[in-house]
Amino acid sequence: MQVHVIRGEMLAACQEMNRTGLNQGTSGNLSVRVDGSMLITPTATPYDQLTPDMMASMRIGDEKGRFTGPRAPSSEWRFHRDIYRARSDVGAIVHAHAPYATALSMLRKPLPAAHYMIAAFNTHEIICTDYAPYGTADLSALVVARLGEAHGVLLGSHGMIAVGETLERALWRAHELETIVRQYMLACQMGEPVILSKEEIEALIPRFAAYGVTA
Ligand SMILES: [Zn+2]
Repeated sequence: MQVHVIRGEMLAACQEMNRTGLNQGTSGNLSVRVDGSMLITPTATPYDQLTPDMMASMRIGDEKGRFTGPRAPSSEWRFHRDIYRARSDVGAIVHAHAPYATALSMLRKPLPAAHYMIAAFNTHEIICTDYAPYGTADLSALVVARLGEAHGVLLGSHGMIAVGETLERALWRAHELETIVRQYMLACQMGEPVILSKEEIEALIPRFAAYGVTA
């Protein structure tokens, strides 16, 4: 796919995050792997002022955070870069301070398998990391370790990350994660949700390999 098309898709994804409430202010960011680099949303730029040419480009192998583009990359570029390094299957990353997922991260609690859709994340439990300040190597190390082979993770007292083979898949998972957390928290207000077993979730994971793929 041509790079200008990817930039346009990133802008559309940002606008969708605003429209659906997944994004809060300028806190969300997303990236797409393009060969040995990543395109990432710029820092401190409201999504309604964003244009495709503002996406910053960074080499995934670069240690120094050098970038090309008219604006500096999101201050959270480090965990984007490190996830791409650790996970060759990941082609896109969405990070948001979505209200429900972030609320659960404030409790430092994982999301258990109260709903079967958690199988879309290649895990029976979405883990919540300890806290580390945003933009730091400490946070990035926590994220990579706790994400493991899963497609989503909660960041303690911070927010959430969803990953995908494509931007479409990462964004779909970000919405799913926010939805399941919301449903779980509603259920918790009425009682104690029944948690599906690891075996029940693992049996579903292969069925999600191509779920939601429209391309
Ligand atoms: Zn953040």
